[in-house]
Amino acid sequence: MSADVIVVGGGVMGAATTWVLARRGHRVTLLERFEPGHARGSSHGTARIFRLGYEEADYLRLAHRALPGWRELEAISGATLLELTGTLDHGPADAVAPLMAAFAAAGVEHRVLDRDEAQARWPGVRFDEAVVHHSEAGRLYAQRTVDVLHQAARRLGAQLRFETPVAALRTEDLAVEVATARGEVLRAGTAVVTVGAWAAKLLDGVVALPRLRVTAEQPLMFRARERAPASFLPLIHRGSHVMYSFGVPGEGVKVAEHYRDEWLDPDDRPFDADPVAQDRVSAYIRSWLPALDPDPVSATRCLYTITPDRDFILDRHGRIVVGAGFSGHGFKFAPLIGELLADLAEGAEQTNPRFRFGADTRRADAGLV
Ligand SMILES: Cc1cc2nc3c(=O)[nH]c(=O)nc-3n(C[C@H](O)[C@H](O)[C@H](O)COP(=O)(O)OP(=O)(O)OC[C@H]3O[C@@H](n4cnc5c(N)ncnc54)[C@H](O)[C@@H]3O)c2cc1C
Repeated sequence: MSADVIVVGGGVMGAATTWVLARRGHRVTLLERFEPGHARGSSHGTARIFRLGYEEADYLRLAHRALPGWRELEAISGATLLELTGTLDHGPADAVAPLMAAFAAAGVEHRVLDRDEAQARWPGVRFDEAVVHHSEAGRLYAQRTVDVLHQAARRLGAQLRFETPVAALRTEDLAVEVATARGEVLRAGTAVVTVGAWAAKLLDGVVALPRLRVTAEQPLMFRARERAPASFLPLIHRGSHVMYSFGVPGEGVKVAEHYRDEWLDPDDRPFDADPVAQDRVSAYIRSWLPALDPDPVSATRCLYTITPDRDFILDRHGRIVVGAGFSGHGFKFAPLIGELLADLAEGAEQTNPRFRFGADTRRADAGLV
């Protein structure tokens, strides 16, 4: 056996799982197909949003449970990973009301503001009908987190191998075989597969996954006219077409659409900016974010892997554990996902039906349809 556990995929989910397994004393090997810090998946770039702003109690609870994990990572690394700036959600009243109800039901400290009050408080932003602020939310440093997790796992004895693409997995009675594209075969008691947008390809014929949609999202960076970027706290504009924005110190204000309408092959996806989408976002800024210069200073592409119901897949099939389908909202949960996938690797069962493999039955099983 090369290891107790082999983790395939070194993005934030694989890195967090490797760190947790090493911390629990397991011999762990992480295999990542690209170089450290690559920008071809879903975990690169400077920043992400941490928020409790979920209508669904399961996710609100998960986000809350993830908070201590961020502080622990900061304590062991000495790095700032999560800045709690507070977050604003706004939109048509019927789009924001379920969130206010979820906050009230979960006892999340929040404040409902009227439009004028919000505009006076945060000048240069045009607010929609309903506005709610919650304080246990803010900015996460993405690439810095992945680097911290890799370093922490290595310090605990984990083997990290980059530029080592895995070609196939095969389960035996007492082990799982992991074959690399270079023909090397490694064996371990369990494999954890966290390969993001490549999950459907690598796990084809191994586990039955729901249909996963891959998109190449396009966050854009804009210059703030008067205020410092850091003063732009995360802003989620809810409604039929969700938009989000937040300040990234030293870079500008990131503004993006959520869920592009496309189905991509992760090995044949665009890296260049989409000018039509860019114009749409610039038009949005002219209407809703007058504090920003509507001409973008930079654009990045980053992959979403979207399940039919946007619920995560956190499940085990024999000796193969899968963490996939994070549907554009997984980063904030990473330290906790690492714990949950490590539990599964140690033999635990997934008890929440909504996170199981079972395709479209998951919501039905969970009594959600
Ligand atoms: C534009 C954008 C904005 C986002 N904003 C937020 C936000 O504000 N808040 C939030 O919580 N979440 C956000 N997310 C979502 C979050 O970033 C993702 O859920 C998270 O990064 C997923 O991590 P991952 O480890 O599953 O995927 P990845 O980071 O893609 O990691 C998978 C890794 O597997 C590797 N791999 C693939 N195939 C193989 C193979 N055969 N062998 C070996 N390695 C392989 C890949 O190279 C990759 O490094 C956003 C995502 C995007 C794209």
